[in-house]
Amino acid sequence: MNSEALEQSTETAQLTVTTSPKWERRAVIDLSAIRNNVKQVADLVAPSAVMAVVKADGYGHGALQVANAALQAGATWIGCAHVTEALALRKAGIDSAMLAWLHTEDTPFDEAILAGIDLGVSGWDLDAIAQAAQRVETPARIHIKVDTGLGRNGSTMADLPGQLQRANEYQEAGLLRVVGIFSHLAVADEPERPETDEQLAVFEQAIELIEAAGFDLEVRHIANTPGILSRPDSHHDMVRLGLGLYGLSPFEDEAPDKFALRPAMKLITRVANVKKVPAGQGVSYGLNYRTSEETYLGLIPMGYADGLPRVATGGPVTVNGKTYPVRGRIAMDQCVIDLGPEVNPEDFIGKEAIIFGEGGQSVNTWAHAAGTINYEVVTRISPRVPRFYVEGSWGEAGE
Ligand SMILES: *Cc1c(COP(=O)(O)O)cnc(C)c1O
Repeated sequence: MNSEALEQSTETAQLTVTTSPKWERRAVIDLSAIRNNVKQVADLVAPSAVMAVVKADGYGHGALQVANAALQAGATWIGCAHVTEALALRKAGIDSAMLAWLHTEDTPFDEAILAGIDLGVSGWDLDAIAQAAQRVETPARIHIKVDTGLGRNGSTMADLPGQLQRANEYQEAGLLRVVGIFSHLAVADEPERPETDEQLAVFEQAIELIEAAGFDLEVRHIANTPGILSRPDSHHDMVRLGLGLYGLSPFEDEAPDKFALRPAMKLITRVANVKKVPAGQGVSYGLNYRTSEETYLGLIPMGYADGLPRVATGGPVTVNGKTYPVRGRIAMDQCVIDLGPEVNPEDFIGKEAIIFGEGGQSVNTWAHAAGTINYEVVTRISPRVPRFYVEGSWGEAGE
């Protein structure tokens, strides 16, 4: 293990080396896992290209660090929901191809075009982007988004011919180039459902339409992580890798190692206190849990302000190699585990408490406890939790 941890300074978005940081709570991100995951997927989808999706600060892992690692490992595109996310990466030095696809009238299209960020186009934004291109006297690069069944963004098949005609006029006027077509899958995480077949068939029709209209496309793309892993026929020219980049599985009953993916985030803190309480002691707000016997309670200094879902009572915390469910309500800053009657407090106070990740339980266990999905758990780890970057196994990183 490389014991040097890399810490992001959010001021400068630069990597600085910290050798022996004191830590109370941290998310340790293994960049070698990110690289492994990109390589596995690149092999799986070759010759299709890989776009690393790093929206929402890299699903909570740190967009800049993840983008750099993904590009080193063979991803050639970076994907963000918002133009502002893509611009921040550009300013921090990411110079790869980039795409952003979710816009409002306040989206800084001028800056995006000048920064060479490709833009997804779903409807009204076509005109707004053409106007921005005119203002900055630089043609925009756009990917036409088609709604093949998800019912969110993208042109419907009914609107697509009109959209293509307008795009063609703007292209003739030198204001933009249509370089891609894309869509998004709705149910690929449930491979037995028929709607993915229907979406892929509609996408083929859309591709035929856009090619018949004479556009010279660089990329056609529809696959997200579940599509990548379960539908080779969805790969087209490029895949958009989000969840799998972080080493998590989108499938309810298939763990990431089935796909040789490695979870990149380990969320840890230290046991803040241990004390003996009598039988019948109520625990945390609401006193919903009562000890059944005289026992030792362990205090874990992480709560919903750190991103642990408040509803996730029963979520697993691993200390000294043993996993304890959270008892009682998760509070803003802390939660409680019941260590049982037999422990020596000295063996626990200050010890590493693993919320999830190597040596502890999976993100999915927390997702189940919260009635949600792994995507939401990692994405909501809050800014109060510093991110530390390591290469390879963690151990007690940074100690
Ligand atoms: C978030 C997102 C992705 C990535 O999805 P995963 O399931 O995390 O791989 C791909 N495409 C679009 C349009 C997205 O919004």
